[in-house]
Amino acid sequence: MTSDPSVVVESTCRSCGWDELELVVAFGSTPLADRLVRADRLDEPQPHAPLTLVVCPSCGLVQISETVDPEVLFNDEYPYFSSVSPRLIAHFGASAKSIIESRDWGDNPLAVEAASNDGCLLVHFADAGWRVLGVDPSAAPAQAAIDRGVPTQLEFFGSRTAAKITEAQGRASLFLGNNVLAHVADLNDFVSGIATVLDDDGLAVIECPYVVDLVDHCEFDTVYHQHLCYFSITALVPLFARHSLHLNRVERTSIHGGSLRLFIEPTLNRDRSVDELLAMETERSFDGPEAFRTFATRIDSLRTELRAIIDDVQAEGGSLVGYAAAAKGTTLLAYCGIDAEDLTYICDLNEYKQGRHMGGNLIPIVSPRRLLADQPDYVLILAWNFAAEIMEQNADYMAAGGKFIVPVPEPRIVNGGAGQT
Ligand SMILES: [Zn+2]
Repeated sequence: MTSDPSVVVESTCRSCGWDELELVVAFGSTPLADRLVRADRLDEPQPHAPLTLVVCPSCGLVQISETVDPEVLFNDEYPYFSSVSPRLIAHFGASAKSIIESRDWGDNPLAVEAASNDGCLLVHFADAGWRVLGVDPSAAPAQAAIDRGVPTQLEFFGSRTAAKITEAQGRASLFLGNNVLAHVADLNDFVSGIATVLDDDGLAVIECPYVVDLVDHCEFDTVYHQHLCYFSITALVPLFARHSLHLNRVERTSIHGGSLRLFIEPTLNRDRSVDELLAMETERSFDGPEAFRTFATRIDSLRTELRAIIDDVQAEGGSLVGYAAAAKGTTLLAYCGIDAEDLTYICDLNEYKQGRHMGGNLIPIVSPRRLLADQPDYVLILAWNFAAEIMEQNADYMAAGGKFIVPVPEPRIVNGGAGQT
C-alpha cells in the first residue's frame, strides 16, 4: 500500500527564480527516506513521492523539483542522531577547535546553530565558555541536546526565527549550519535569516555536500526528498550576495562523500580558494547543465552492475543482508529495484532504528550483532561514506569469510582475505 504525502512541485529555480529548468534524472516515485516504520504499523500506507533532479541553466543550482512538506519529512520520528558516528564526532570536535582558535572572539560570544541535532557540535563551544543556542525541529535529537546542556529551540531556522533570536539574545558572533542548507525549501529566507542573526564582524560556517563530488563519485543515492539542493560554488556566490553576505573562503572536506566548508561574512574579503574552485567549475562545465548530462547514463550503468552482482549471489544460493539503514539507502534500493526479497534485514548501530523497518520496502532493521550470529555470505553497504568504518567495526565478520558489497562509485566486492575485486 502506498500513499502520497503533501508535495509541491516547483517550476522555478529555488535560488534565482529562473523558470526553465533542465532535467537531469527522473527517479520516478520513491519512498520517503528516513521514514522508519514501527513493527506495529506495517499495515499503514507507505508514503511515496516523485523525485526529479533538475539544474538551473541561469545560476547553475542543481535541485529536485518536488518539495515534500517538511513537517512530514522531519517529524518526531526523525531517527538521525549525529553522535552515533565516531567519525562525525571527531569531525565536529576538530571543526569547533579550529573555529575557536581562528580569531579573537571577544567576551561572551554567542554561537547559533541551525539543525543542531543532538548538540554534538555546539557542546564544544559551550565547554569553551561560549553562549550557545541550537535550533532544530526534531524533538528527540533536540531533547538529547538539552539534556547535555545545549539550549535548543524546537523549530526550523529562517528569517522569523533569526529575528526572534536577535531580539532575545542580540546578534551572534558565529552562525553554524552543517548539512542543513540542502534541506531548506526557501533558500532565500534561510540566507536572509543568517544575515539578520549575524553580527557585522561575525562569521557563518556552513557545511554542505559538494555537487562536483556527487557527480565525480556517482553519489546519486544522496538524492532524496530531504535534499532539495546540490551546491556548486558557482551557484552559492550569487545566493549569498543577494542577501549582502559574501562567500570569502572555502575548504573541501571528505565528510558525506565530499563536502564544502563555507566561510561567509557580511564584508567582502574573498580569498583564492573561492576563485580557484569557480575557475575549476567553469573549466569542467559545472557552471551550467553540461556536466550533468552524462550523469544519468552513469547511474543507469551502476544500477545494471549492482543488480547483476545481487542476481549472481542469489543464483549461487548465497545469503545477502544490508548494512546501515541510512536515508541514502532508500534511493539506492528503490532505483535499483532491491527489496525485502533481496535483503533479509539491514543492520544498524543506532538502537533507535533497531526493531523498525525501512520505509517503502519494509525490510527489518536489526543490531549488527546479527552479522556474527548469522554470518551471511554478503553484506551490501548502504552508507558507502562510512564503508571503511563499517568494515573496521565488523572485522570479525570479514575474518570469518564474510564479504561486503560497496555499491558506489561503482559496485565492488570486498573480502577480508583477498582484498577487493
Ligand atoms: Zn537559478
